[in-house]
Amino acid sequence: MHTDTGEIGYGEAPPTGAITGDTTGAIIGAITDHIRKALVGRDIDDFEDLTTALDGAVVKNSSAKAAVDMALWDLYGQKYQIPVYKLLGGARKKIITDITISVNSPEEMARDAVNAIKRGYDTLKVKVGVDPTLDVARLKAIRDAVGSAPRIRIDANQAWAPKEAVRLLNEMQESGLAIELVEQPVKAHDLEGLTYVTERSYVPVLADESVFSAEDALKIVEMRAADLINIKLMKCGGLTSALKIAALAEISGMECMIGCMLEAKVSVNAAVHLACAKKVITRVDLDGPVLCSEDPIDGGAVFNEKEITVSDAPGLGIKGIRGLTYLDV
Ligand SMILES: [Mg+2]
Repeated sequence: MHTDTGEIGYGEAPPTGAITGDTTGAIIGAITDHIRKALVGRDIDDFEDLTTALDGAVVKNSSAKAAVDMALWDLYGQKYQIPVYKLLGGARKKIITDITISVNSPEEMARDAVNAIKRGYDTLKVKVGVDPTLDVARLKAIRDAVGSAPRIRIDANQAWAPKEAVRLLNEMQESGLAIELVEQPVKAHDLEGLTYVTERSYVPVLADESVFSAEDALKIVEMRAADLINIKLMKCGGLTSALKIAALAEISGMECMIGCMLEAKVSVNAAVHLACAKKVITRVDLDGPVLCSEDPIDGGAVFNEKEITVSDAPGLGIKGIRGLTYLDV
């Protein structure tokens, strides 16, 4: 986002059709056909009006909104020469992320887990749910290989039926796997099922796909349908909406995780600013940038394996993107 005073605000929206429904064409269309009209020509100092206009420019399209919302925060911080994480609370400068272990054979997953621990990670996020009969065996192989010290959290990606989830989770805990939390054990829309699992499982439940917007978070809080909420900028539509979810969680005594899609450093950097600003975000799942094979982005947070350090440059601190091209739209 360019201003007539020469600043550039950076945003990013990966097309994650399988989760948000947002595709490349839809993201570009939402920005060029709807959002642009609502924002171009206005003053960055009308910040509240700008974020309201952005949210109202088009329904859904949370990824496009997230990209533009973070560009607005970037420009606002640049104007007042303050890094966004300080503007939002400034709780800390450094956060520690987990790393994802993908679904494979138990032996391969145990090997990947050992490699991650050797690289310094102390928290593993293990994908489960592809084949429920093998899940406990996979986790046992990992726990045996890494010992008792590393934290293991699991992500079922909506795979289980509520009763199946309770049975599997309690079996895991009873066999000493010490699972820290389970992400989204049941279907996103099945809040009754999620509540059922939360009430009966020894393993704390984190709502991911069940919470896109702040309105969704309110429902989860009211129903006590989960123990924790996973905030992702691409689900909620940016920092403005994420702040509302964080506040809701804080008020209701819940903690949050901050996560990402397969994202590069621009948008994950915005998530880092939020996580460094807010103490209610106690868990970090921002391993997107370390999974990227190249990094054309200058500035922003420094990603050094598990350790992420926020930038103290004004705004979001992105200085430029090498090889960036502009669409003629
Ligand atoms: Mg998840």
